[in-house]
Amino acid sequence: MDRTAAGRADVDATGHEKTQVVIVGSGFGALAAAKTLTKSKTPFVLISETTEHLFQPLLYQVATGVLSAGEIAPPIRNILQKFPDADVRLGRVVEVNAEDNTIVYEASGQRHTLGYRSLIAATGATQAYFGRDEFAEVTYKLKTVEDAELLRKQILRCFEEAHTTTDALTRKNLLSFVVVGAGATGVELAGQIKELARRYFAMAINNISAEEVTVTMVEGAGVALPAFGGKLSEYTQKSLEKSGVEVVLNTMVTAIDEHGVTVSSIPTKEEKRIDAETVIWSAGVRANDFAAVLGAATGCESDRAGRLLINPDLTVGGFANVYAVGDMTSLNGLPGQSPVAMQGGRHAAKIVNGKRKAGTPFKYMDKGSMSIISRFSAVVRVGKKIEFKGTIAWFMWLAVHVMYMVGFRNRYVAVMSWFGSFIGHRRPHFHYTQEPVKIEAAPPVLEKEPELAHSA
Ligand SMILES: Cc1cc2nc3c(=O)[nH]c(=O)nc-3n(C[C@H](O)[C@H](O)[C@H](O)COP(=O)(O)OP(=O)(O)OC[C@H]3O[C@@H](n4cnc5c(N)ncnc54)[C@H](O)[C@@H]3O)c2cc1C
Repeated sequence: MDRTAAGRADVDATGHEKTQVVIVGSGFGALAAAKTLTKSKTPFVLISETTEHLFQPLLYQVATGVLSAGEIAPPIRNILQKFPDADVRLGRVVEVNAEDNTIVYEASGQRHTLGYRSLIAATGATQAYFGRDEFAEVTYKLKTVEDAELLRKQILRCFEEAHTTTDALTRKNLLSFVVVGAGATGVELAGQIKELARRYFAMAINNISAEEVTVTMVEGAGVALPAFGGKLSEYTQKSLEKSGVEVVLNTMVTAIDEHGVTVSSIPTKEEKRIDAETVIWSAGVRANDFAAVLGAATGCESDRAGRLLINPDLTVGGFANVYAVGDMTSLNGLPGQSPVAMQGGRHAAKIVNGKRKAGTPFKYMDKGSMSIISRFSAVVRVGKKIEFKGTIAWFMWLAVHVMYMVGFRNRYVAVMSWFGSFIGHRRPHFHYTQEPVKIEAAPPVLEKEPELAHSA
């Protein structure tokens, strides 16, 4: 066999490339698997459709100008460059032939076939619209770097245009924001936009006051942060309301257009229109498209959100050398959170490199859950009983997120940026240039014709 120019794969007699392990994705699950394989010097090819390792929990800070995208999304190639057994490729895996141990990926306008001994898939999740895909056209979301940058641009556009428009209704709509969903992302964004209004825009733009800016968070369940429940959900709601967010519970969004949403109360069926120039959708997730490809190739069933119903050892369908981890999977009701993906990635890689016995069931070690609400306000649950809320929980959130950020420089820059934004009033990453638009010339004002004198 000849080694390919790319590095960690060999070409067999039939001209096909083959490697020991193919990892699909560059998120939390994939990186954890990759790092585990580097320890045992197991050659692998990591294929991802994005060049970066994205730290999704801090996306909302990119959307609200606290951090730059580069600080939370270092290139996966750079993270793995010091490991000679790692080969990183930018591509989209579109086919799996589990019977003959090959995948097909598209890159640089070509289709490539790559053989493997083991396959570890960690392709994550995307936004779910529950059969209303048209909502995607008129809402903002927060899943990728592009989403965060688009939302940041929109927030800034709204404040800039509200500053200059002379139309009162337009101004009101520009300063109205609706967040659909009161899960962690919805809560973070709602709290952060209100904070932006109060601690940045109201200070930077002299004719805008924080009170004018409305943020409405709409949730179908009866509590905010339903995954926490109890006192932590109550605290979240109170904390948001104290900061000026309107929390609308037990309510479904039934229609969305470019200028707002229609909501319907579940108990009373009463409908209401909320006008807003910005609607952010954070109401649900479903597995990425690749989950269906892998499911069909391995005979693995999926749940209603398209997540693969994997085996207890994280293998997929009837194939002992194919693993899936993280948000694209459903196992024992584990949450779609980064520690689940990371521990899953490590577990699969340890079986692959022989450090753990094949067939060992995955045991998730729950170190707790946390969610930030706004400045100095967060909730943390460790185990079933230990709960923290308020400032102490906020500092715990910061400490944990700094710890998990990749790269010393990024950690340092993030801490400095947090000082600037949370102690001071800085939002260094707001850049906005008005798109050149054709301004319609006002109709010429005709000089008033002299009135003809009417003779009686
Ligand atoms: C806004 C937001 C906030 C969050 N906050 C928290 C938090 O505070 N705490 C927490 O624990 N979790 C949080 N999460 C969830 C956490 O980020 C996910 O659980 C975690 O990212 C899942 O890791 P993963 O490896 O399964 O997928 P991901 O990290 O999503 O990675 C998926 C990867 O697969 C790649 N990919 C997809 N399809 C293909 C394909 N066909 N071919 C090649 N590559 C492909 C993508 O490019 C990406 O690199 C948050 C998520 C979001 C969106």
